[in-house]
Amino acid sequence: MKKLFLIILSFCLMLFAVSCQKNAIPSMAGAIDAGNEEAQLVSDPLITDPNPINETQPTGSDNEAVSAPEADTGGNESDPTHTGPKDPYASIQNQSTGTTSPSAIEYLYEEEISEEEIARYASLIPDEYKTLSYYYPEKAKRYVKYNELNPGLGYGKSILYVNIGLDKPFYSNIKTITEPDRIDVLVNKYNKLPGSFSPRLVELPSELCAEGVGKQYLRRDAKEAFEKMHRDAKEFGLNITAFGTYRSIQVQNYIWDSKINSGRTIEDVDKLNSRGGHSEHHTGLAIDVIKNSYVVESTREFEWYKDNAHKYGFIIRYPKGKEHITGYQYEPWHLRYLGVELATSVYESSLTYEEYYALYIEPGMRSCFNAHPKP
Ligand SMILES: [Zn+2]
Repeated sequence: MKKLFLIILSFCLMLFAVSCQKNAIPSMAGAIDAGNEEAQLVSDPLITDPNPINETQPTGSDNEAVSAPEADTGGNESDPTHTGPKDPYASIQNQSTGTTSPSAIEYLYEEEISEEEIARYASLIPDEYKTLSYYYPEKAKRYVKYNELNPGLGYGKSILYVNIGLDKPFYSNIKTITEPDRIDVLVNKYNKLPGSFSPRLVELPSELCAEGVGKQYLRRDAKEAFEKMHRDAKEFGLNITAFGTYRSIQVQNYIWDSKINSGRTIEDVDKLNSRGGHSEHHTGLAIDVIKNSYVVESTREFEWYKDNAHKYGFIIRYPKGKEHITGYQYEPWHLRYLGVELATSVYESSLTYEEYYALYIEPGMRSCFNAHPKP
């Protein structure tokens, strides 16, 4: 009898211990339940992953996974003279993890193509497509090949998708962005910020930040727009706060390397973590908006900002069902600042920013470049 009592008692103690463990990090409890992936991220001493993506789709891709409120409570917090933006991870900037850096495993597909070959492939494309502002003759072969592989797509979309880069795997055929300070800059798995890029940032007032996330930084335009949105939303009793904002390229490299060093494959890590230089968070124009909850879509805040954020210059950058274009799963919490006019135009188009950029921004940039070629 005594033995039975002891067994029951130890079972109860075990249950209690498990319950305490979960309650120790209440905000992550749901995520831990989601599976090994999240548990691994949570146990990372540098990174407590706020990314709810694994809660619903454990194998999902993402470029978040890196905001680190705990790490933010480091040295910079107690510096009363701190006026400008500092990298909360400054102490790890120069650490080497001894991994193949992401840049070393990039590979290029661009091939030399003769004028004759261009003409031959161009002759296979119906004429009406060759007058499109986003038709680039030197890509004729890629357009034809992609159209052959995707016969139901039609030439209009084939041309658009090739221009985005989608005929090549993500993280291939990578271009280094030449004007990284532009508000409309496109940063994704094909377009990389230069390693030296460091935007001018301002600190967000603490009332704009989610509790416990430490200091957050954005570019001034984005900060002012976010402040206005936050204030207006307050009028409706809503609290839209920043959970994650600027993140340096070096930190992203470190995180990516650490994941690889932990024994995971490149494919696996790429699903969850952006490579250095490829995250929008480097621009100081991206904000992860989470209100102390990982279930963003069920919040009143989301209900409001999904149809109002563009009025302040923000878009939901990674829409639902567009993973094959953006390279990222649906991220209802990730807002990107573009300015009111452009954000409104993108919002009204219902296009991804990749599509919008390829259709309306890149052609203008190319014609401008061609009109004023570099000496
Ligand atoms: Zn984000």
